[in-house]
Order: sequence, then C-alpha cells, then structure tokens
Amino acid sequence: MSEHIFEYAPAPESASIVDIRPAYGLFINGEWVDGTDGRSFKSVNPATEEVLAEITEAGPADVDRAVTAARTAFETVWGPMPGRERAKYLFRIARLIQERSRELAVLETIDNGKPIRESRDVDLPLVAAHFFYYAGWADKLPYAGFGPDPRPLGVAGQVIPWNFPLLMLAWKIAPALACGNTVVLKPAETTPLTALAFAEICRQAELPPGVVNIVTGAGETGKALVEHPGVDKVAFTGSTEVGKQIARAVAGTRKRLTLELGGKAANVIFDDAPLDQAVEGVINGIFFNQGHVCCAGSRLLVQETIAEELLERLKARMTTLRVGDPLDKNTDVGAVNSAEQLEKIRTLAQIGEAEGATRWSVPCRLPEQGFWFPPTVFTGVAQSHRIAREEIFGPVLSVLTFRTPAEAVEKANNTPYGLSAGIWTEKGSRILWMAQRMRAGVVWANTFNKFDPAAPFGGYKESGFGREGGRHGLEAYLDV
Ligand code: NAP
Ligand code: MG
Repeated sequence: MSEHIFEYAPAPESASIVDIRPAYGLFINGEWVDGTDGRSFKSVNPATEEVLAEITEAGPADVDRAVTAARTAFETVWGPMPGRERAKYLFRIARLIQERSRELAVLETIDNGKPIRESRDVDLPLVAAHFFYYAGWADKLPYAGFGPDPRPLGVAGQVIPWNFPLLMLAWKIAPALACGNTVVLKPAETTPLTALAFAEICRQAELPPGVVNIVTGAGETGKALVEHPGVDKVAFTGSTEVGKQIARAVAGTRKRLTLELGGKAANVIFDDAPLDQAVEGVINGIFFNQGHVCCAGSRLLVQETIAEELLERLKARMTTLRVGDPLDKNTDVGAVNSAEQLEKIRTLAQIGEAEGATRWSVPCRLPEQGFWFPPTVFTGVAQSHRIAREEIFGPVLSVLTFRTPAEAVEKANNTPYGLSAGIWTEKGSRILWMAQRMRAGVVWANTFNKFDPAAPFGGYKESGFGREGGRHGLEAYLDV
C-alpha cells in the first residue's frame, strides 16, 4: 500500500478452503474432549481482529489426562512398535500435510497474520519436509551414532510459540515420534488452529490414540505441562525469560530439557559483498515473517566504507515492500501477531528514538483494522542502545558499522544471545574465518533464513541449548 513503481491488482487467496469450527475441544487420547473446568479463550485473525474460534483452556486436570494418555500409548503401543512401522505413520502424516497444504497455509495465515506467500512457499513445504525427513530415520536409529539400540525417553511435553505455529509443531513432533516417544503439545494461545488441524490429520493417519495429544491454553497450561511429574522430556521454544523459568522448574528432576530461545543476530556485510544480493538478504533477514523470527538478522553490521550506499539501496528496496492483507498473494509483510506484540515493538522503537538513534519507516498506508507496524530501520545505533541488545521481534532493523573483520566479530558476539548470524563477502577464506569466530548456532554465508530439515538448528548462550533438525535433532529424544 506504499507508493509503488508497479501497481498490482489485488490477488486474494480464497479462504473458502478452510473450515474453521466455532469451537474446539482438547485432543486427548485420539478424541475431542471438553475441558474439565469449562474455561475458554478466543483466537483472532490479527489482520482483521475478527474472532475465529472459541478455544478450550486446558487446566491441570486436563494436562494430567493428556500425560496419562501419552504414557499409556508409550508403554502399550508406540514404544514397543518397530521403527519401520512408526515410519509408515510418519510418512502418512507427511503425505496428508502435502495433500492439505493449501488449506493449512490459508489457516496459518488467517490465525497468525503472516503473508500467504510465506505460509504457502516456506512454512508448509518445510513442515512436510520435516515429517518426511524424520520418517526416514525411524527405522535407522541403530545407525544414527547413538549405539546399537537407542531407546526413546517416554512422554515429551512440548511448548511452542506463535511465530511459526505449524513449523514449530513439526520440529517438535516429528523427531519425538520417530524416536518412539509420545507427545503432549501446547501451541501458543494466539495461534492454536493449525495444531488443532494437525490433530485431525493424526486421526486421518489412524495414528494410535494417545501418541499425539494437543492441549490448548496460555502460559499456565504450558507451566502445568512442563511441571507435570509424568513428563520425561521437556522441549520448549519461546522467549529467554520463560526458558529460564522452565530451566528452574525442571532443575533437580530427572526430566531432559532442550530450550530454543530468543536471538539478536548480526548480519555482517563486507565492502566486497555483491550489494544488491546483500540487500535482498537483509530484507529477507529482518522483514520475513514481520521480523517475528528468532534467528532474524536484526542487527545489521555494515563495513563503514559502503554503509551509505548500502543504506540508500536498502531504503529504496524497502519502499517496494507491500504491507497489508496477508491473504493477498502479492503481500510481503503481513500483520503483527497480536496487540500485545505490537505494543512491545512500538515501545522498543520509541526507546530507540529516545536513546538517540535515527528512525526511518517506510511511508505506507496501513489498514485501519488489525495490528500493523511499517518496515523500519534505525541508523546511528550504538552497541549500548536497547534496540541493539534486546530482541524486538518485529520488522525493525538496527544498523551499526565496523571497519575491520576483527571489529565485526567483536560486535557480532557482543550480545547475550547466540542463535544465528550472516556473512556477506566475496571471499571464501573470510567466510570461514568469520564463521569460526562467531558464537552462533547457525551461520549463513551470502544468504539468510534458509532452513532444511537435515540441518541442525539451535543456540549458544541465552539462545538456549540442544539442536533441532538433522541427525543431531534425534539426540534430544533418545536415552543417550
Ligand atoms: P513465550 O512468551 O516464551 O511463549 C512461548 C510458549 O510458552 C507459549 O506457548 C506460551 O504460552 C508458553 N508459556 C508462557 N509462559 C510459560 C510458562 N511459565 N511455562 C510454560 N510455558 C509458558 O514466547 P513468545 O513471545 O510466544 O515467542 C517469541 C519468542 O520465541 C521469541 O523470543 C523468539 O525468539 C522465540 N523463538 C525461538 C525459536 C528458536 O528456535 N530458538 C523459534 C521461534 C521463536 P502463551 O500461549 O500464553 O504465549
Ligand atoms: Mg490467532
């Protein structure tokens, strides 16, 4: 909706393919059940503020039912089942996801606010790929490097955030099931719908009851799940703050724990980088998924000699971003996921200005309804500024400069986080030199935000521990 070089006709994806029920129960032991204490909440479409459905809030008694169902399924069916048989179910789930991918993409976009182009072309293909990938491991665990007969852990309690609802579910559920564990998963309060659609897919795949259980709710439900004594393994993706609470709650118990937390990634551009390509990488690094990305390239470190030219090209490119209706196939930047998150982004942007950085936002008309924030860049940012240190989790880029590779490394690592990083340079030797020195779980070179189920993902320092994806991702779900 900004001033465009090209005018585009609207190209809305039809929402008629999704069938959202007015109300959802909990998915426990293969059945839809009511919550014990009758509490519920609403999920809304963040682009319109329209209420989508009434969602059951699971209390401690419901979490207990789900964990009990998962335990029984683990002991009687799923744990003893040969890997080659488990694989068949996972392949079936993967194929069903592919078959229903258009429907799931639309549903994800409606519940989350992300552009349909992303849910259709990124989220859903990766979700299916993740199930296919781990389906392939289910009968090969003795060859994964964890001994001749690696055993599952038991019941996994999994809590996920709202930025990639179905993809985070896939990252959690696929390896857990491949290794022979059963699952109780809590989706985020603002984005439960695709997890509930996944429950239907489990039924379609005739997955044995209790192998996957979905309990909806907010933080309290997550807390009840994490603290339940019947859970053998806790897997959490979310904020560092909640991750710390969970680490404390699990300390001293026999539970295994993996934490995938926040980030404040440096995207480092050297003066020999192909600039237009780097600009695309910066755009993708921070405006993909409205910047609601744990590994977002939210700190741009650009070599001083090219800073001016790069910023000029970046701003020119930013003005071509189309902000608006997430269901429109031309949209690049959709809605912020919730009023609460929008408030957080606004507050940090105001703090950036108050601390003396210079703000520039794309001049664009934002829709009246819903939650929106224009793509924004801050220049003149100092390392001490809060916008250089804290995760904003929105479409806001902080720009810093450097002169030498050593300074770039020092600034890139000057953060409590360590999830991801990007390097842009023509020199292969410099890529390797940098990658060895940056304390980040994932380092991209001349690209950004690229994902593959075979590649492990995870952090250092306050970005958490444990790896998801790849052979490494099996380890979190095996007794090794
Ligand atoms: P969050 O507030 O930590 O919430 C994450 C999940 O935990 C939600 O399901 C949440 O419930 C639940 N929860 C809240 N309090 C809890 C408690 N005391 N015990 C157990 N569960 C609890 O994070 P968010 O704001 O939704 O998500 C954004 C964060 O996730 C960012 O920091 C981002 O970097 C991080 N993230 C990390 C990765 C990664 O792989 N490293 C990937 C994606 C996102 P509600 O439904 O009430 O929120
Ligand atoms: Mg929603």
